[in-house]
Amino acid sequence: MLSQQDISDRILIQEHFAKEHLPLDMTIEQVEEHRQKIKQLLKEKDACLVAHYYTDPVLQQLADETGGCVSDSLEMARFGNAHEASTLVVAGVKFMGETAKILTPEKKVVMPTIEATCSLDIGCPIDEFSAFCDAHPDHEVVVYANTSAAVKARADWVVTSSIALQVVEHLADQGKKVIWAPDKHLGTYVQRQTGIEMLMWDGACIVHEEFKAKGILDLKKVYPEAAVLVHPESPDAVVELADAVGSTTQIINAARDLPNEQFIVATDKAIFYKMQQAAPGKQFIEAPTGGSGATCRSCAHCPWMAMNGLESVLHALETGKDEIFVDEELIVDARKPLQRMLDFSASLKG
Ligand code: SF4
Repeated sequence: MLSQQDISDRILIQEHFAKEHLPLDMTIEQVEEHRQKIKQLLKEKDACLVAHYYTDPVLQQLADETGGCVSDSLEMARFGNAHEASTLVVAGVKFMGETAKILTPEKKVVMPTIEATCSLDIGCPIDEFSAFCDAHPDHEVVVYANTSAAVKARADWVVTSSIALQVVEHLADQGKKVIWAPDKHLGTYVQRQTGIEMLMWDGACIVHEEFKAKGILDLKKVYPEAAVLVHPESPDAVVELADAVGSTTQIINAARDLPNEQFIVATDKAIFYKMQQAAPGKQFIEAPTGGSGATCRSCAHCPWMAMNGLESVLHALETGKDEIFVDEELIVDARKPLQRMLDFSASLKG
């Protein structure tokens, strides 16, 4: 049976698709007017725009132009933490705003819309997850960044897709067993690479789960020279076809570094903006979603990421509405596994 939360998330997705097919209701002049107002307000409010690769390119460009950051969730967290601005405007989904708040509670963190969430976060409610962890006390608890503050607070480690393999390898070397949550596809990939004993939560990303191996094989017939780039939240059969598997930053780097001129890309298509900058002149092709005759729920673009736009960023700056608040005790507990990830990441570089 669907919960109230599931139902309202479905409604949000449906509303998003209904809107997406309407003509863009802003003229070029209005777009420019919004951009200038946002730039002005960022200065006046001592604020910094931090945007995810999956947000609208117009926001990615604004973040770049204003000294903010466009990146994956690990780098967004690091950047927001180190930046001197007193306000962070986090264009992404709710767990990213919460992560920013947990790492820098003294800063004001606002989001273009607090309703932008994530199927992985929704699919891992704290009560059920906590009971699962309690039932397996001999396991180290490793959770993906795409989780609520409460789930992070229950974890020993938080990881992003850019560092998951190294963290779990580190735990495997110590002979540990792990509970992994919530993305089962990323978990399967990490388990296979590391050989660790893993208990897996049954969550999935509604965008990456749509990619289909058969569709990619068909596309390879049309573009035989194309390399396949895959985010490991995709199903196993899709990961197996990849020339490069990795986090958003890692597959952007692969697009730059591989000699191929064409790429079939299995992740959110908003990433093409940064891929084109990193590898100018190369061609990027969306990996197919949905089987033949099937309806597609996401069509390679996250409905929640798509809730971030110029109007909502401007509104967030003007009103301060949709500020992120996290309970103080949760901040203390959730910060430990997050900081462990950041320290571990720094140790790999050092
Ligand atoms: S793309 Fe998937 S993992 Fe990322 S926010 Fe959207 S639903 Fe969550």
